[in-house]
Amino acid sequence: MEQHTEPFRRRLRQWLPDHMPREDGPPRTGSARDPARHRELQRRLFDGGFAGLTYPAAYGGQGLTAEFQEVFNQEAAGYELPTLCNVTLGILGPTIVDFGTEEQKLRHIPAILRGDEMWVQLLSEPAGGSDLAGCITRAVRDGDVWVLNGSKIWSTNAHISDFALCLARSNWSLPKHRGLTMFIVALHQPGLDIEPITQANGDAEFCQEFITDLAIGAADTLGAENAGWEVVSRLLYHERNLAGAASPYTYGLVAEGTPVAPTAPELAEVARAAGTAHNNRVRALVAEAHALDAIQEQLVERIGTGIALGTLQATSGSLLRLFEITKVLFCSNASVDIARSEVVVWPEGTAGSLGGQFLMRQSAALAGGSIEMQRNIIAERVLGLPREHAPDVGVPFDSVPHNAPSTRR
Ligand SMILES: Cc1cc2nc3c(=O)[nH]c(=O)nc-3n(C[C@H](O)[C@H](O)[C@H](O)COP(=O)(O)OP(=O)(O)OC[C@H]3O[C@@H](n4cnc5c(N)ncnc54)[C@H](O)[C@@H]3O)c2cc1C
Repeated sequence: MEQHTEPFRRRLRQWLPDHMPREDGPPRTGSARDPARHRELQRRLFDGGFAGLTYPAAYGGQGLTAEFQEVFNQEAAGYELPTLCNVTLGILGPTIVDFGTEEQKLRHIPAILRGDEMWVQLLSEPAGGSDLAGCITRAVRDGDVWVLNGSKIWSTNAHISDFALCLARSNWSLPKHRGLTMFIVALHQPGLDIEPITQANGDAEFCQEFITDLAIGAADTLGAENAGWEVVSRLLYHERNLAGAASPYTYGLVAEGTPVAPTAPELAEVARAAGTAHNNRVRALVAEAHALDAIQEQLVERIGTGIALGTLQATSGSLLRLFEITKVLFCSNASVDIARSEVVVWPEGTAGSLGGQFLMRQSAALAGGSIEMQRNIIAERVLGLPREHAPDVGVPFDSVPHNAPSTRR
């Protein structure tokens, strides 16, 4: 395997220093989350032949295997990378490759790889995100046009994105999983108001969208009419891979906006700086974080390979996701035990802002499907335990009691 990737590694080692800025390089003006900066970095990778390594060559990618992305990630560590594009590259792009028409793929994938298009997922609604199939945003077809009405929420970076995949209910008389359609939506157009939401840590990367008589051409459905559940299930598979640190499509381990926690070496550094490194409990916490890192590496390898070879089903990705959540919660909590009250004023540095990470840790247990939903999936789909009782299975959606007005006249 190494021999196979060695020329690529050498080419990268030559190219990176001349074309990508170092993270520890001269200070820059502007925010590290400036979308223009991330688009430009993505463009540099594209021009250098390093964008979309695992995307098909027919749509502007390099058509390589996941091993090459791994080599890229190893060599590019320490360089500034367009991580703001990770959700687009790791979740939305692969879903378009899986379900798009030839025309849709040719229109969007090269633009995504060039950094010209950033995408967002419009799935969750104010009435709930776990029960995605209970979506009540309404899509009504009128000839060659669909008209959408409703509201979406918790959409990461919608305000700085260009396009979205938006799930809506297109048929209310079918059971809930069967009456959904996925739409390709240009974000900045009449009928779509995007309102940023300020979070507990002061950031405002989430948005709520208000959709009023938004017109979408019939050619802009992704997948067939009423087959949106199939599309969203695949999208969530890509999302679990990304959030579980196993995506073959992205730079680094996690998506921008996904909560991170200090790593074991960072916790060790915090312990030394806080003067708690001799405390036995602190040492045990750091050692356990280190063990979690080692286990995660093996787990990603084993489950990723199993899914790729078909010996494990795709829903096994929930194991990776659950492990990542468990690790984020453990390491965030450990950082408070190790730094003690100093955590509140811990300076930005290798271990980031410990207080900020601690405040945001719980969102790791929600993003991309909550910790409880991952456990449900593992219990029911991986281990084959009986499904939780649901009164709406197989029942026409407009006969199920819910908060949306009925469409039956
Ligand atoms: C950082 C972050 C980024 C996000 N980005 C996006 C995005 O880009 N696009 C998007 O559409 N959404 C996004 N979300 C929303 C996310 O998908 C939802 O928060 C998530 O699906 C949970 O939905 P909810 O918040 O509505 O909670 P609810 O569904 O209301 O659930 C509330 C609680 O009840 C539990 N619960 C619900 N049903 C069950 C059940 N059957 N069994 C056991 N427990 C249950 C849940 O686990 C949760 O703890 C993001 C969220 C976060 C935190």
